[in-house]
Amino acid sequence: MFEPEVETRPWEEQLALDDESFKAQLAYALERSPLYREKLAGFSAAGLTDIGELPLTEKAELKGTVSDENPFGAHLAAAPEEIVRIYSTSGTTGTPSFIPLTAEDRESWVTGSARSYAASGLSRGERLVSTYNAGPFVAGAALEAFDRIGVTHIPVGTGSSERLVQAIEALRPEAVVLTPSYAAHLLEWAGERGCDLRASSVARVLVAGEPGGGEEAFRARLEDGWGARVTEAMGIGDIGPSLWGECGERDGMHLGARGLVHAELIEPESGEALALDDGATGELVLTHLRHRAAPLIRFRTRDHVSVRLGPCPCGRTGPRIRCIGRTDDMLIVRGVNVFPSAVREVVSAFAPAVSGNILVRPGSPGVKQEPPLPVVVELARGADDDSALADSIRERLRSALLVQASVELVSWGSLQRSEYKSKLVERA
Ligand SMILES: [Zn+2]
Repeated sequence: MFEPEVETRPWEEQLALDDESFKAQLAYALERSPLYREKLAGFSAAGLTDIGELPLTEKAELKGTVSDENPFGAHLAAAPEEIVRIYSTSGTTGTPSFIPLTAEDRESWVTGSARSYAASGLSRGERLVSTYNAGPFVAGAALEAFDRIGVTHIPVGTGSSERLVQAIEALRPEAVVLTPSYAAHLLEWAGERGCDLRASSVARVLVAGEPGGGEEAFRARLEDGWGARVTEAMGIGDIGPSLWGECGERDGMHLGARGLVHAELIEPESGEALALDDGATGELVLTHLRHRAAPLIRFRTRDHVSVRLGPCPCGRTGPRIRCIGRTDDMLIVRGVNVFPSAVREVVSAFAPAVSGNILVRPGSPGVKQEPPLPVVVELARGADDDSALADSIRERLRSALLVQASVELVSWGSLQRSEYKSKLVERA
C-alpha cells in the first residue's frame, strides 16, 4: 500500500476530513472562481451532506466560457504565476481543453495516481512498460506516479506494436499499462506472428483510458491471452488522472484520490442525486476538495458506474466502483438503457466463436432508438457465417440486457482495431 495510514482510514473519518476540505474548497471557489461566484449565487451547502443542493457542472458549460483572454474557462481560480503546468485533454470528443495546475494540484494528482497504481500491485523495483503518448496529456501526471512508486519505468508509447513486444521480450517487465482495446489488439497481433504473450514475463496488465477492463468476459479473454492478472484504473481529464485503481481482489476500483476528490452518484437523465449504496448504479459526479488552479464542484463525468461498499480484504476502506460505460454512449431502446460496452460483454461470452469485437449502429440520431438495435458482431478467425449463432446472440442480448437487437455477423478482421480507444458506436 502506498500510504497505509490514509488508505485504511475508517471511511467515516475520511468523510469528516473531507467535509472540512469541502467547506474550504467552496469558500475558495466563491472567492476566486468567476464561474462559481455566478453559478452558486442563491445556492448554499453547509457541508458535504447537502452538496446535492448545489447545481451540477457540465463539461460543455466550461467550454462555453473559454475566451481569447481566458483559454481555460471561467472556473480558473489561480493567478498566472501560480500555474506550473498546463496539460491538454486528448480531445477525443471535440476540441481539446487546457487544464492548468498549481504546484500543489500537481502534487495531489501524482499522489492520487500513485495510490491507485500501487493498489494494482506495482511496487519499487518492478519493471513496467507503458504505452501512453502521455507527455502533453493529463495522463502525463500518472507517469510521474510511476516514478513516485519507484518502478523501473519503460515508456515505449503507441504506434509500434513491434517495439512494444520487443521491449517485453528483451527487458522482461513484470507489468504493462495500456488501454483494454490495445491489450486485446496486441493478443491478436502477437498471435499472428507466432508469439505467445502468455509465455512472457508479464504478470500484471494494468488497463485504463476507457471502459472494458472491468467487463467479466472481456477481462477473462485478456487474462487468458496474457496469462496475467488484469486490473483497471480510471480518471477524468478535468478532475485528475487515475483517480481510481483496482486492487488484487479485482472487485472494483478504490478511490486513490481520497481526501482530494469527493464522489457522488446521480440519475443521468434527471440529474437527481442517488445514495452511494452498495449495488447502486448511476453517473459519477466528482468534486475537488483541495484544488487550486481550476477547481470543479459537482462535475458530471459522464461515466456510468456501479458501487460496491462491502469491506475489501486488501484493507482499503471506502466505496469501490466499476465503470459500466459512458453516459454519452448510452442508448435508450423502448425505455431500457443500453451501453455498447455491455453489449460487447454479452457478445464476448460467445468466444471462441466470436472475436469479441462489436459495433452498435443506431438507426436514428439521438439517444432514443426504436428496436431492433443493429449490432455488428465479428466472428472468430476462420469462422463462417452461422445463422444459429446470430440467433443465440440476439436471444442472449434480449435476456441479459432486455434489448431487442438485430445481429449481423461479419468475418474476422472486418472491424477496426485500436492502439488507443475502441469505437463501439457508429452513427449513420
Ligand atoms: Zn481492495
